[in-house]
Amino acid sequence: MATSKNMTPELLSSQGRLKGLHLVATGDAFHQGWLNMIEKATEEINPGVFRIKDTKNVQNEFLQEEIPEGISKNPETNLILTAEVEDYNRVHHLIILPSFETAYNMRKKLKGNLDSDGRPRIRMSGAEIQELVLENGCIMGPSHAFTPWTSIYKEFDSLMDCYSEIPDFVELGLSADADMADRIEELQETPFLTNSDAHSPWPHRLGREFNEIDVKNISFPALVRAINDRKITANYGFDPRLGKYYHTACTKCYQQFHPEEAIKMKMKCPCGGTIKKGVDYRVEELATWNEPQHPTHRPPYIHIIPLAEIISLSYNKGVTTKFVQRKWQNLILKFGDEISVLIDAPMKNLAEIDSELALRIKAFREKTLQIKAGGGGKYGEMIFNKNEEVTDEVDYKNENSTLDSFLK
Ligand SMILES: [Zn+2]
Ligand SMILES: [Zn+2]
Repeated sequence: MATSKNMTPELLSSQGRLKGLHLVATGDAFHQGWLNMIEKATEEINPGVFRIKDTKNVQNEFLQEEIPEGISKNPETNLILTAEVEDYNRVHHLIILPSFETAYNMRKKLKGNLDSDGRPRIRMSGAEIQELVLENGCIMGPSHAFTPWTSIYKEFDSLMDCYSEIPDFVELGLSADADMADRIEELQETPFLTNSDAHSPWPHRLGREFNEIDVKNISFPALVRAINDRKITANYGFDPRLGKYYHTACTKCYQQFHPEEAIKMKMKCPCGGTIKKGVDYRVEELATWNEPQHPTHRPPYIHIIPLAEIISLSYNKGVTTKFVQRKWQNLILKFGDEISVLIDAPMKNLAEIDSELALRIKAFREKTLQIKAGGGGKYGEMIFNKNEEVTDEVDYKNENSTLDSFLK
Protein backbone atom coordinates (compact mmCIF):
# COMPACT_ATOMS: atom_id res chain seq x y z
CA MET A 1 0.00 0.00 0.00
CA ALA A 2 1.01 3.60 -0.65
CA THR A 3 4.15 2.62 -2.53
CA SER A 4 4.85 3.10 -6.25
CA LYS A 5 4.87 -0.06 -8.36
CA ASN A 6 8.16 1.17 -9.84
CA MET A 7 9.83 0.67 -6.49
CA THR A 8 11.59 -2.58 -7.38
CA PRO A 9 14.78 -3.92 -5.74
CA GLU A 10 16.60 -3.20 -9.02
CA LEU A 11 15.54 0.44 -9.13
CA LEU A 12 16.28 0.91 -5.41
CA SER A 13 19.81 -0.19 -6.16
CA SER A 14 20.36 1.76 -9.38
CA GLN A 15 18.83 4.93 -7.92
CA GLY A 16 20.88 4.48 -4.75
CA ARG A 17 23.99 4.43 -6.88
CA LEU A 18 23.11 7.75 -8.53
CA LYS A 19 22.48 9.20 -5.11
CA GLY A 20 25.92 8.03 -3.98
CA LEU A 21 24.81 5.48 -1.40
CA HIS A 22 26.59 2.16 -0.86
CA LEU A 23 23.85 0.46 1.11
CA VAL A 24 20.09 0.98 0.94
CA ALA A 25 17.56 -0.52 3.32
CA THR A 26 14.78 -2.52 1.65
CA GLY A 27 12.05 -1.61 4.14
CA ASP A 28 8.93 -3.79 4.46
CA ALA A 29 10.96 -7.00 5.02
CA PHE A 30 8.10 -8.86 6.72
CA HIS A 31 5.91 -8.66 3.60
CA GLN A 32 5.81 -11.96 1.68
CA GLY A 33 5.39 -10.39 -1.76
CA TRP A 34 8.27 -7.96 -1.27
CA LEU A 35 10.50 -10.69 0.20
CA ASN A 36 9.85 -12.79 -2.91
CA MET A 37 10.86 -9.91 -5.18
CA ILE A 38 14.06 -9.23 -3.24
CA GLU A 39 15.02 -12.92 -3.09
CA LYS A 40 14.49 -13.32 -6.80
CA ALA A 41 16.46 -10.21 -7.76
CA THR A 42 19.47 -10.54 -5.45
CA GLU A 43 22.34 -12.72 -4.27
CA GLU A 44 24.01 -12.52 -0.86
CA ILE A 45 27.56 -11.19 -1.17
CA ASN A 46 28.32 -10.78 2.54
CA PRO A 47 26.22 -11.97 5.47
CA GLY A 48 23.01 -9.94 5.33
CA VAL A 49 24.07 -7.81 2.35
CA PHE A 50 22.47 -8.44 -1.05
CA ARG A 51 23.54 -7.45 -4.54
CA ILE A 52 21.32 -7.19 -7.61
CA LYS A 53 22.14 -10.25 -9.74
CA ASP A 54 21.50 -8.85 -13.16
CA THR A 55 22.03 -5.14 -13.52
CA LYS A 56 22.28 -5.23 -17.32
CA ASN A 57 18.54 -5.15 -17.89
CA VAL A 58 17.79 -2.51 -15.32
CA GLN A 59 16.45 0.49 -17.15
CA ASN A 60 16.99 3.52 -14.99
CA GLU A 61 14.36 5.92 -16.20
CA PHE A 62 16.00 8.75 -14.30
CA LEU A 63 19.28 8.61 -16.19
CA GLN A 64 19.06 7.98 -19.93
CA GLU A 65 22.77 8.24 -20.63
CA GLU A 66 25.72 6.34 -19.22
CA ILE A 67 27.95 8.29 -16.86
CA PRO A 68 31.05 9.03 -18.98
CA GLU A 69 34.35 7.27 -18.43
CA GLY A 70 36.77 9.02 -16.10
CA ILE A 71 34.12 10.25 -13.68
CA SER A 72 34.34 8.53 -10.36
CA LYS A 73 31.30 6.36 -9.93
CA ASN A 74 29.83 4.65 -6.95
CA PRO A 75 30.59 1.01 -7.89
CA GLU A 76 27.33 -0.53 -6.72
CA THR A 77 24.57 -0.12 -4.21
CA ASN A 78 23.63 -3.16 -2.20
CA LEU A 79 20.61 -3.88 -0.07
CA ILE A 80 20.03 -4.82 3.56
CA LEU A 81 16.76 -6.11 4.99
CA THR A 82 14.83 -3.74 7.22
CA ALA A 83 11.24 -3.33 8.32
CA GLU A 84 9.20 -0.80 10.20
CA VAL A 85 6.40 -2.13 12.40
CA GLU A 86 3.68 -0.46 14.43
CA ASP A 87 3.03 -1.77 17.95
CA TYR A 88 -0.31 -1.75 19.78
CA ASN A 89 0.37 1.75 21.15
CA ARG A 90 0.77 2.99 17.56
CA VAL A 91 4.50 3.45 18.11
CA HIS A 92 6.76 2.73 15.11
CA HIS A 93 9.95 0.69 15.38
CA LEU A 94 12.72 0.14 12.86
CA ILE A 95 14.20 -3.38 12.72
CA ILE A 96 17.38 -4.31 10.80
CA LEU A 97 17.56 -8.02 9.93
CA PRO A 98 20.51 -10.37 9.38
CA SER A 99 18.88 -12.70 6.80
CA PHE A 100 15.82 -13.87 4.89
CA GLU A 101 15.64 -16.82 7.27
CA THR A 102 15.23 -14.40 10.19
CA ALA A 103 12.48 -12.55 8.33
CA TYR A 104 10.60 -15.83 7.84
CA ASN A 105 11.14 -16.95 11.45
CA MET A 106 9.86 -13.66 12.76
CA ARG A 107 6.86 -13.71 10.44
CA LYS A 108 5.69 -16.77 12.40
CA LYS A 109 5.92 -14.95 15.74
CA LEU A 110 4.72 -11.43 14.98
CA LYS A 111 1.03 -11.10 15.75
CA GLY A 112 -0.74 -9.25 12.97
CA ASN A 113 -1.54 -9.33 9.26
CA LEU A 114 1.92 -9.02 7.77
CA ASP A 115 0.86 -9.02 4.14
CA SER A 116 -1.79 -6.30 4.18
CA ASP A 117 0.71 -3.45 4.45
CA GLY A 118 4.49 -3.02 4.22
CA ARG A 119 4.44 -1.53 7.70
CA PRO A 120 2.29 -4.02 9.60
CA ARG A 121 0.31 -3.32 12.74
CA ILE A 122 1.44 -5.77 15.39
CA ARG A 123 -0.73 -6.71 18.35
CA MET A 124 2.25 -6.64 20.71
CA SER A 125 3.92 -4.03 22.92
CA GLY A 126 7.24 -2.40 22.08
CA ALA A 127 8.94 -4.51 24.75
CA GLU A 128 7.46 -7.76 23.36
CA ILE A 129 8.61 -6.88 19.85
CA GLN A 130 12.03 -6.01 21.22
CA GLU A 131 12.29 -9.39 22.97
CA LEU A 132 11.52 -11.17 19.71
CA VAL A 133 14.01 -8.97 17.85
CA LEU A 134 16.80 -9.80 20.32
CA GLU A 135 16.01 -13.54 20.25
CA ASN A 136 16.39 -13.44 16.48
CA GLY A 137 19.66 -11.52 16.35
CA CYS A 138 18.24 -8.33 14.80
CA ILE A 139 18.78 -4.77 15.99
CA MET A 140 16.05 -2.25 16.64
CA GLY A 141 15.22 1.27 17.69
CA PRO A 142 12.30 3.70 17.60
CA SER A 143 11.48 5.21 14.17
CA HIS A 144 11.17 9.00 13.67
CA ALA A 145 11.28 9.24 17.46
CA PHE A 146 9.56 12.62 17.96
CA THR A 147 6.75 12.82 15.39
CA PRO A 148 3.25 13.48 16.78
CA TRP A 149 1.26 10.52 15.38
CA THR A 150 3.20 7.29 15.65
CA SER A 151 6.44 7.74 17.56
CA ILE A 152 7.82 6.61 20.91
CA TYR A 153 7.90 10.13 22.35
CA LYS A 154 4.31 10.93 21.38
CA GLU A 155 3.36 8.03 23.64
CA PHE A 156 6.03 7.94 26.36
CA ASP A 157 8.34 10.33 28.21
CA SER A 158 11.18 7.83 28.32
CA LEU A 159 12.56 5.07 26.09
CA MET A 160 12.38 2.63 28.99
CA ASP A 161 8.62 3.17 29.37
CA CYS A 162 8.34 1.42 26.01
CA TYR A 163 11.26 -1.06 25.96
CA SER A 164 12.82 -3.40 28.47
CA GLU A 165 16.34 -2.94 27.06
CA ILE A 166 17.98 0.25 25.82
CA PRO A 167 17.42 0.26 22.03
CA ASP A 168 20.39 -0.12 19.67
CA PHE A 169 19.77 3.29 18.13
CA VAL A 170 17.25 6.10 17.84
CA GLU A 171 16.07 7.23 14.41
CA LEU A 172 15.71 11.02 14.56
CA GLY A 173 13.18 11.58 11.76
CA LEU A 174 13.01 14.47 9.30
CA SER A 175 11.78 17.03 11.85
CA ALA A 176 14.60 16.55 14.38
CA ASP A 177 18.39 16.73 14.38
CA ALA A 178 21.21 15.96 16.82
CA ASP A 179 21.12 19.48 18.31
CA MET A 180 17.53 18.87 19.35
CA ALA A 181 17.90 15.28 20.54
CA ASP A 182 21.09 16.00 22.49
CA ARG A 183 19.14 18.24 24.84
CA ILE A 184 17.64 15.06 26.30
CA GLU A 185 19.85 13.36 28.86
CA GLU A 186 18.60 9.81 28.34
CA LEU A 187 19.74 9.88 24.70
CA GLN A 188 23.38 10.72 25.44
CA GLU A 189 24.69 7.16 25.03
CA THR A 190 22.43 6.16 22.14
CA PRO A 191 23.63 6.36 18.52
CA PHE A 192 21.42 8.41 16.21
CA LEU A 193 20.41 7.19 12.77
CA THR A 194 19.27 9.59 10.08
CA ASN A 195 17.10 7.64 7.65
CA SER A 196 14.22 8.54 5.39
CA ASP A 197 11.70 6.32 3.66
CA ALA A 198 10.92 6.50 -0.04
CA HIS A 199 7.61 5.39 -1.49
CA SER A 200 8.77 6.06 -5.03
CA PRO A 201 12.17 6.03 -6.76
CA TRP A 202 12.19 9.72 -7.68
CA PRO A 203 15.57 11.37 -6.98
CA HIS A 204 13.99 13.76 -4.48
CA ARG A 205 12.54 10.87 -2.49
CA LEU A 206 15.27 8.26 -2.12
CA GLY A 207 18.00 8.98 0.43
CA ARG A 208 16.63 12.28 1.71
CA GLU A 209 18.58 11.41 4.86
CA PHE A 210 21.48 8.97 5.25
CA ASN A 211 24.34 7.93 7.53
CA GLU A 212 28.07 7.82 6.94
CA ILE A 213 29.51 4.81 8.72
CA ASP A 214 33.15 3.77 9.09
CA VAL A 215 33.16 0.12 8.02
CA LYS A 216 35.52 -1.66 5.63
CA ASN A 217 33.64 -4.69 4.39
CA ILE A 218 29.95 -4.13 4.90
CA SER A 219 27.90 -7.01 6.27
CA PHE A 220 25.11 -7.23 8.82
CA PRO A 221 27.51 -8.10 11.71
CA ALA A 222 29.89 -5.31 10.62
CA LEU A 223 27.03 -2.81 10.56
CA VAL A 224 25.88 -3.86 14.04
CA ARG A 225 29.44 -3.56 15.35
CA ALA A 226 29.83 -0.14 13.77
CA ILE A 227 26.62 1.11 15.38
CA ASN A 228 27.50 -0.41 18.77
CA ASP A 229 31.07 0.89 18.67
CA ARG A 230 29.89 4.43 17.75
CA LYS A 231 31.45 4.30 14.27
CA ILE A 232 28.78 6.46 12.66
CA THR A 233 31.00 9.24 11.36
CA ALA A 234 28.29 11.65 10.17
CA ASN A 235 24.53 12.02 10.10
CA TYR A 236 23.11 13.72 7.02
CA GLY A 237 19.60 15.00 7.33
CA PHE A 238 17.05 17.72 6.77
CA ASP A 239 17.22 20.98 8.55
CA PRO A 240 14.48 19.96 11.01
CA ARG A 241 12.48 23.08 10.18
CA LEU A 242 11.91 21.54 6.74
CA GLY A 243 10.21 18.49 8.28
CA LYS A 244 6.44 18.07 8.25
CA TYR A 245 5.97 18.23 11.99
CA TYR A 246 8.46 20.82 13.21
CA HIS A 247 5.98 23.42 14.51
CA THR A 248 2.61 22.93 16.17
CA ALA A 249 -0.05 23.27 13.44
CA CYS A 250 -3.46 22.24 12.18
CA THR A 251 -3.40 19.06 10.09
CA LYS A 252 -6.20 20.34 7.87
CA CYS A 253 -5.46 24.00 7.08
CA TYR A 254 -1.81 23.97 8.32
CA GLN A 255 -2.19 27.16 10.33
CA GLN A 256 0.59 27.22 12.91
CA PHE A 257 -0.15 27.92 16.55
CA HIS A 258 1.77 28.67 19.63
CA PRO A 259 1.84 25.36 21.53
CA GLU A 260 0.32 26.85 24.69
CA GLU A 261 -2.40 28.52 22.67
CA ALA A 262 -3.14 25.19 20.98
CA ILE A 263 -3.46 23.44 24.32
CA LYS A 264 -5.89 26.13 25.50
CA MET A 265 -7.90 25.51 22.33
CA LYS A 266 -7.95 21.79 23.24
CA MET A 267 -5.98 21.10 20.05
CA LYS A 268 -9.00 22.03 17.90
CA CYS A 269 -8.47 24.47 15.03
CA PRO A 270 -11.24 27.00 14.20
CA CYS A 271 -11.41 25.31 10.77
CA GLY A 272 -12.55 22.10 12.44
CA GLY A 273 -9.23 20.32 12.00
CA THR A 274 -6.97 18.82 14.66
CA ILE A 275 -3.88 20.65 15.89
CA LYS A 276 -0.78 18.47 16.23
CA LYS A 277 2.00 19.23 18.64
CA GLY A 278 5.24 20.11 16.87
CA VAL A 279 8.48 18.19 17.31
CA ASP A 280 10.17 21.37 18.53
CA TYR A 281 7.70 21.65 21.37
CA ARG A 282 7.88 17.96 22.23
CA VAL A 283 11.67 18.24 22.47
CA GLU A 284 11.26 21.30 24.68
CA GLU A 285 9.04 19.29 27.02
CA LEU A 286 11.50 16.40 27.19
CA ALA A 287 14.67 18.50 27.32
CA THR A 288 17.05 18.29 30.25
CA TRP A 289 19.15 21.21 29.03
CA ASN A 290 18.52 24.47 27.16
CA GLU A 291 21.50 23.90 24.90
CA PRO A 292 22.58 20.66 23.22
CA GLN A 293 25.22 18.65 25.12
CA HIS A 294 26.88 16.53 22.48
CA PRO A 295 28.66 13.49 23.92
CA THR A 296 32.15 12.86 22.53
CA HIS A 297 30.99 9.93 20.38
CA ARG A 298 28.36 12.03 18.60
CA PRO A 299 29.29 12.66 14.94
CA PRO A 300 28.53 15.91 13.11
CA TYR A 301 25.00 16.35 11.83
CA ILE A 302 25.08 17.85 8.35
CA HIS A 303 22.01 19.51 6.89
CA ILE A 304 21.18 18.35 3.41
CA ILE A 305 18.27 18.41 0.95
CA PRO A 306 17.72 16.51 -2.30
CA LEU A 307 19.37 18.12 -5.33
CA ALA A 308 16.14 18.01 -7.35
CA GLU A 309 14.44 20.09 -4.64
CA ILE A 310 17.16 22.73 -4.86
CA ILE A 311 16.85 22.84 -8.66
CA SER A 312 13.08 23.02 -8.38
CA LEU A 313 13.24 25.99 -6.03
CA SER A 314 15.95 27.78 -7.96
CA TYR A 315 13.93 27.73 -11.16
CA ASN A 316 10.46 27.69 -9.68
CA LYS A 317 9.54 24.51 -11.57
CA GLY A 318 7.88 21.39 -10.22
CA VAL A 319 10.29 18.83 -8.84
CA THR A 320 9.02 16.06 -11.14
CA THR A 321 9.04 18.19 -14.32
CA LYS A 322 11.21 17.30 -17.31
CA PHE A 323 13.08 20.58 -16.81
CA VAL A 324 14.18 19.74 -13.28
CA GLN A 325 14.96 16.12 -14.15
CA ARG A 326 17.13 17.23 -17.08
CA LYS A 327 19.12 19.64 -14.92
CA TRP A 328 19.51 16.93 -12.29
CA GLN A 329 20.71 14.47 -14.92
CA ASN A 330 23.30 16.91 -16.30
CA LEU A 331 24.85 17.32 -12.87
CA ILE A 332 24.89 13.57 -12.20
CA LEU A 333 26.58 12.97 -15.55
CA LYS A 334 29.22 15.53 -14.64
CA PHE A 335 29.96 14.55 -11.04
CA GLY A 336 28.95 10.89 -10.86
CA ASP A 337 26.35 11.03 -8.10
CA GLU A 338 24.15 13.42 -6.14
CA ILE A 339 26.07 13.43 -2.87
CA SER A 340 29.19 14.52 -4.77
CA VAL A 341 27.27 17.48 -6.21
CA LEU A 342 25.77 18.52 -2.89
CA ILE A 343 28.77 18.04 -0.63
CA ASP A 344 32.06 17.51 -2.46
CA ALA A 345 32.06 19.29 -5.84
CA PRO A 346 34.24 22.44 -5.92
CA MET A 347 32.13 25.60 -6.15
CA LYS A 348 34.11 26.71 -9.21
CA ASN A 349 33.17 23.58 -11.15
CA LEU A 350 29.53 23.88 -10.16
CA ALA A 351 29.43 27.54 -11.15
CA GLU A 352 30.78 26.71 -14.61
CA ILE A 353 27.77 24.52 -15.25
CA ASP A 354 25.09 26.60 -13.56
CA SER A 355 26.06 29.68 -11.60
CA GLU A 356 22.57 30.26 -10.24
CA LEU A 357 22.32 26.76 -8.88
CA ALA A 358 25.86 26.90 -7.51
CA LEU A 359 24.82 29.86 -5.35
CA ARG A 360 21.97 27.83 -3.89
CA ILE A 361 24.17 24.87 -3.12
CA LYS A 362 26.67 27.25 -1.52
CA ALA A 363 23.95 28.72 0.67
CA PHE A 364 23.11 25.20 1.74
CA ARG A 365 26.68 24.24 2.52
CA GLU A 366 27.16 27.44 4.49
CA LYS A 367 23.78 27.20 6.21
CA THR A 368 22.74 30.66 5.12
CA LEU A 369 19.37 29.83 3.62
CA GLN A 370 16.18 31.01 5.13
CA ILE A 371 13.54 28.50 5.99
CA LYS A 372 9.83 28.74 6.57
CA ALA A 373 9.23 25.98 9.08
CA GLY A 374 6.81 23.11 8.40
CA GLY A 375 4.05 21.80 10.66
CA GLY A 376 0.80 19.84 10.81
CA GLY A 377 1.95 17.52 8.02
CA LYS A 378 3.17 20.22 5.62
CA TYR A 379 6.88 20.30 4.79
CA GLY A 380 8.87 23.45 5.50
CA GLU A 381 10.03 25.65 2.63
CA MET A 382 13.40 27.01 1.64
CA ILE A 383 13.55 30.66 0.73
CA PHE A 384 16.48 31.77 -1.35
CA ASN A 385 15.67 35.40 -1.92
CA LYS A 386 17.55 37.16 0.82
CA ASN A 387 15.73 40.44 0.25
CA GLU A 388 12.45 38.87 1.08
CA GLU A 389 11.27 39.48 4.61
CA VAL A 390 10.77 35.92 5.71
CA THR A 391 11.94 34.22 8.86
CA ASP A 392 11.12 30.94 10.48
CA GLU A 393 9.03 32.63 13.12
CA VAL A 394 5.46 31.58 13.51
CA ASP A 395 2.59 34.00 13.25
CA TYR A 396 1.50 33.52 16.84
CA LYS A 397 -1.58 34.97 18.38
CA ASN A 398 0.00 35.17 21.79
CA GLU A 399 3.21 37.10 21.23
CA ASN A 400 4.15 37.57 24.85
CA SER A 401 4.61 34.01 25.92
CA THR A 402 7.86 32.94 27.49
CA LEU A 403 8.00 30.04 25.03
CA ASP A 404 8.56 32.36 22.09
CA SER A 405 12.31 32.35 22.52
CA PHE A 406 12.86 28.71 21.65
CA LEU A 407 10.67 28.84 18.60
CA LYS A 408 12.78 31.44 16.87
ZN1 LIG B 1 6.78 5.18 10.69
ZN1 LIG C 1 -7.21 24.37 10.69
